[in-house]
Amino acid sequence: MNRINVTKSSMPPFEDYIKEISDIWESHWLTNMGSKHQQLEEKLKNLLECDYVSLTVNGHSALEAGIQALNLTGEVITTPFTFASTTHAIVRSGLTPVFCDIDPDYYTIDTDKIERLITEKTSAILAVHVYGNICNIEGIEQIARKHNLRVIYDAAHTFGEKYKGKAVASYGDMSMLSFHATKVYNTIEGGAICYNDANLQDIISKLRDFGIRNEEDVDCVGFNAKMNEFQAAMGLCNLKYLDEEIKKRKNVVVKYKELLRNIPGIILSPDNPDVKNNYAYFPIRVEEKEYGYSRDDVFTWLKNHGIGARKYFYPLTSEFSCYRDIYFNNATPIAHDISMKILTLPLYADLALEDVEKICDIIIKKGKV
Ligand SMILES: *Cc1c(COP(=O)(O)O)cnc(C)c1O
Repeated sequence: MNRINVTKSSMPPFEDYIKEISDIWESHWLTNMGSKHQQLEEKLKNLLECDYVSLTVNGHSALEAGIQALNLTGEVITTPFTFASTTHAIVRSGLTPVFCDIDPDYYTIDTDKIERLITEKTSAILAVHVYGNICNIEGIEQIARKHNLRVIYDAAHTFGEKYKGKAVASYGDMSMLSFHATKVYNTIEGGAICYNDANLQDIISKLRDFGIRNEEDVDCVGFNAKMNEFQAAMGLCNLKYLDEEIKKRKNVVVKYKELLRNIPGIILSPDNPDVKNNYAYFPIRVEEKEYGYSRDDVFTWLKNHGIGARKYFYPLTSEFSCYRDIYFNNATPIAHDISMKILTLPLYADLALEDVEKICDIIIKKGKV
């Protein structure tokens, strides 16, 4: 049986990568902001329409470096419907996450519920563009301005997306991107923090490199989050195929939508006309009352056919055993409900359309194939 995984990393032609890394054997410069690193940073600044893009070894450290560079204190309003990284980055920076509920259609932070969570300790909003669904950026900006809060976006899912004609990473005080192997664009592992404030560049550069100010002084408690030359080389190669990657993913998504559009109880994410999509994920929501079966039933049928879907995001980060008795400061019933019903289906550039049909067939025939 040919297995279908939930994702498959995109790789450039082998020869492309070999060519790109060959001069590393001339320079013997493997990491610490070498020439591949510089080239990639320049290219991404243009693509992401940001004055500053600081590359890191992975997306999570970009988020930690960003949070720490802003010198935040006290509480950060965020959502629990996300990957572990978002909540961990807040907690590992010595801050308290305050969980806000999510919008029932787009699964992003519900801006109508933010203000009631603001206290004198609140210093920032860390919102997530879940599945590449863009948050209510204007709503968040308005609240932040009124209460003097910083805005950070976990934009890990948004590479290549535009909102109202502008690159998504250019919004907020800063946006974090992930270039992990499973994302639309990868540097094997990798990430970036994107921002427009010149004052942040120096501190972020130091934070990702042990806090080293110069050869004789270390003036902040940094960590090691540098992107190496092999990662940057992979990034330079994959960048050439970004448009093709997104186009192929779009074909898969169009097929899914065509086949699953009219199934009672199978809810697809609505399109947002202001967003140029990157087709990063294909989540379905299984409403048991109308569909007759649960999300877990669909997951099991697919699994029995060698198809890997993912309960993404389940459980909520606030329900993790490391957090549930500590930070369960606020009920998020909609996020909880969605986490019980959501399932992301396999999606990658060269997923065959016949495989999409096979997957949809199992869902349409309720496991009886
Ligand atoms: C992938 C991801 C991260 C972490 O990025 P890494 O590059 O894996 O460290 C953070 N947040 C979200 C929502 C993600 O999907």
